[in-house]
Amino acid sequence: MDNGFFKKGNDSNMHRTSYHRNYREENFSSRQQAHRTAIVDEKRTAPYAIIYQSEFDYISRCILDYPNIETGGQLFGFLTEYGVPVVCYALGPGPRSNHQTAFFNQDTDYLQMVYNEINRRYGLRYIGEWHSHHQLGLAKPSGHDASTIVHGMERSSFRHFLLCIGNCDRGNHSTLNAFTFHINDVYNYRHAPWDIIKIESPYRRIIDNELASVLCHPNTRVASHGSNYFVNRDSCTPVSVVPDYSSEYWLNSKANNTVLKQIIDFVSSVGENASVKAQLDERKHVHLFVNRATVSEHIVFGEKFPNEPPIIISDISGGLTDNIQWVYNGDIFNSFKEYYLQVIRLQ
Ligand SMILES: [Zn+2]
Repeated sequence: MDNGFFKKGNDSNMHRTSYHRNYREENFSSRQQAHRTAIVDEKRTAPYAIIYQSEFDYISRCILDYPNIETGGQLFGFLTEYGVPVVCYALGPGPRSNHQTAFFNQDTDYLQMVYNEINRRYGLRYIGEWHSHHQLGLAKPSGHDASTIVHGMERSSFRHFLLCIGNCDRGNHSTLNAFTFHINDVYNYRHAPWDIIKIESPYRRIIDNELASVLCHPNTRVASHGSNYFVNRDSCTPVSVVPDYSSEYWLNSKANNTVLKQIIDFVSSVGENASVKAQLDERKHVHLFVNRATVSEHIVFGEKFPNEPPIIISDISGGLTDNIQWVYNGDIFNSFKEYYLQVIRLQ
């Protein structure tokens, strides 16, 4: 998709927002910090993307408006200090946008007008864009999509960028996949799970009201979601929808998903009360972030688990498992339990 945004020198607008941005990032990130700092690094591609439910729904409605041709829009919000994008307001196609089977061009006058107002009034930044590959089956950026973003970032001051690709099926469900880019490693963009804030964005109603004479909205009234790739912030299960693990990965088995739940319950119950958060990395390996009053641990279940031991790293003593033997006898939970109890004695 090419909306001309990068080319128009909008960087000057970005600087005006720094006061607002810092203020909001601080508030927001304190909630995130506890369990995510271990792998979130501003110098790397963001490992997940945050969006309000209302905006996720809004994009679904936009995608479902055009089941057979491309459509798209822009994403406004801010970044946390770790560079994680937070989508506060999603824009759909403008009245003079160009929808074709294999590409979409936003109405640049529309984008410019809306963005200027949103930035000036609310301090939101332009943090990314989305477009739909409708029923083409390509659920990731095309080569052209990626190179458009890369060249745009290289010509501008963007360090981070969020590109979302939508799809829909004949049953009228849409999906939206997030891809995060970082200027330090711009060709290795990452498929990032969504972290959904399950409320209406505080910006949605106010912007829709104040810019009512300008904004275009989708005709489709109700969002309808297919299987999306999520981080689940509310529970100990790693994701709401089972992602496509590699065929050899242990969590391909339903029974092993129950074992993971047992492991999480067990880790939470050992010693001081711990909070345990599960998250998937870009290779769809499970990481557990264990926070106790005095120590935090990071447990990784790699590709070869349980034939190889989990990696356990403590923020106090570092790698913990060098001198402990992993004995796997076919019972994953009990093997893990024995191993883990030995490991945490070393802390
Ligand atoms: Zn595309």
